[in-house]
Amino acid sequence: MAEPGAPAAPPPRRPVYRARIERMRDHNADTRSLFLRIVDGGRFGFVPGQFISIVLSLNGETRVRPYTIASSPEEADTIEVCFNQVPSGAGVHYLFARKVGDELEFTGPFGAFTMDRAPEPECIFIAEGTAIAPIRPMIARALGSGARPALSLLYAAADSSHLLYREESAQWSAAGVNFAALVAPPAELYDRLIAETQRRWVDADSDRRRHFYVCGVGRGVLRLRDLLRGAGYERRAVHYEQW
Ligand SMILES: Cc1cc2nc3c(=O)[nH]c(=O)nc-3n(C[C@H](O)[C@H](O)[C@H](O)COP(=O)(O)OP(=O)(O)OC[C@H]3O[C@@H](n4cnc5c(N)ncnc54)[C@H](O)[C@@H]3O)c2cc1C
Repeated sequence: MAEPGAPAAPPPRRPVYRARIERMRDHNADTRSLFLRIVDGGRFGFVPGQFISIVLSLNGETRVRPYTIASSPEEADTIEVCFNQVPSGAGVHYLFARKVGDELEFTGPFGAFTMDRAPEPECIFIAEGTAIAPIRPMIARALGSGARPALSLLYAAADSSHLLYREESAQWSAAGVNFAALVAPPAELYDRLIAETQRRWVDADSDRRRHFYVCGVGRGVLRLRDLLRGAGYERRAVHYEQW
């Protein structure tokens, strides 16, 4: 214990990792994945859903932006981050300008929007576009565990090219995940997601034992959270992350 009056110890510093961009994948015209191989900083472990803070250089200044780890902890050799262009988005512009072989620095992992083990009896994932990133390793974890709750994924995008990882969603469906895709113009996307969520998990029955993991951009995420909590789902059972 510290002596009375002694200055408080500084919080422990997170290690800084250096990683080389080993390869890239363009999902569509404005969405890309980078596969990062850590070359310095030691062993890196994380839980499905966590993010890293990537160091960026913006107008000559050093900044950080959070990017979710889209791959699973079990994929030990590289970690994947997946991101999309944002109008006047300087951070993501910097990432799009990186090339295979370039190095990036990051700290982490961070975040409490995590799923170590899929909760019983039913687990619902709701995401839009690139925000499937945290959900992807969660579903992989849930499918890989022995006793498995019922799993559903409601996945929305502005057009079908922005429904990412389609080959995997087909595999998830084959493995028993109740998968539904929703395509709607950006201005209607959250209204449609909210209406669909209301229909499926609020109006359809009075079962309120489900757990939800919701990820997306902007206030629509909070509207989904409020809908579910307001409908009687436990606060702690409605997990969400707003980008
Ligand atoms: C915990 C967390 C995890 C994140 N993980 C990812 C990720 O895996 N992939 C990813 O692409 N982004 C992710 N983001 C968003 C990311 O950190 C940046 O905000 C985004 O790339 C825009 O940064 P920017 O500097 O280019 O633009 P800024 O000028 O900083 O942002 C401009 C606006 O873009 C909005 N925005 C944020 N993300 C998006 C998006 N994906 N699409 C459209 N608009 C967006 C913000 O709400 C903000 O209003 C995450 C954010 C958080 C908080």
